[in-house]
Amino acid sequence: MCRHGKGHIYEYVETAIERGLDEIGFAEHIPIPGLHDPDGRMLIGEFPIYLQEIRDAQKKYSEITIRLGIEADFIPRYLDFVAKFLSEYPFDFVIGSVHFIDDWDFSHPDFIEKYHTFGIDETYKAYYNLLAEAAATGLFDVIGHFDQPKKFGHQPTTDLTSEIENALLIIHEKNLVLDVNTAGIRKPVGEIYPSEDILRRAHELGIPVILGSDAHRPEDVGSHFSEAREMLLKIGYERQCAFRNRERMLFPIE
Ligand SMILES: [Zn+2]
Ligand SMILES: [Zn+2]
Repeated sequence: MCRHGKGHIYEYVETAIERGLDEIGFAEHIPIPGLHDPDGRMLIGEFPIYLQEIRDAQKKYSEITIRLGIEADFIPRYLDFVAKFLSEYPFDFVIGSVHFIDDWDFSHPDFIEKYHTFGIDETYKAYYNLLAEAAATGLFDVIGHFDQPKKFGHQPTTDLTSEIENALLIIHEKNLVLDVNTAGIRKPVGEIYPSEDILRRAHELGIPVILGSDAHRPEDVGSHFSEAREMLLKIGYERQCAFRNRERMLFPIE
């Protein structure tokens, strides 16, 4: 229902069934009235359609569990709106994500030249600081695509260990889950979010993980999950999470 995704909910569910998934969670981008983001998200008036379509899909497909989620942006000036919105609907899970540094959507392909005016290192630093702030709010269950500024292949030239460590420590302290997101494989960077090094540190800290394909087309549902599972098992993860009514459940990674 965002303006940059394709296909109907049923097509995503049917792909998930074909690919042998037991469960699929939808996480549309949260509508935020007032935010200038023309192709980023549904309008607030469309939100009831999303709820209804998830409910209809849950009734139609008994062979798979379908969860209602949302990807909520952390944008400081909209925090009160987002907090209220999240409290008003019966989400199974909430992904907290940072896509904006001030007014700049650094994850949008139309605005990538700003990495050079803002500075690549500065982008990463500002991003990780916002991500740490997002985790500290306690509003979210999952932190989405942890190292997203790498999306278009921009590599930092400075050591970001302390920024990354700080964000991970807050994620751990707030008992959040990391999104192991295969969309990065489909982007110019060509690798999973977060990187293997970051996941190793997350594993040492005992931070749980959830698999996500961040599918914006039905054919991307569950894409590269075997690669993601292989990486997680190699690092030492044995279990992955799912959510129901914002409560975490653990399952073996197989
Ligand atoms: Zn999107
Ligand atoms: Zn996102």
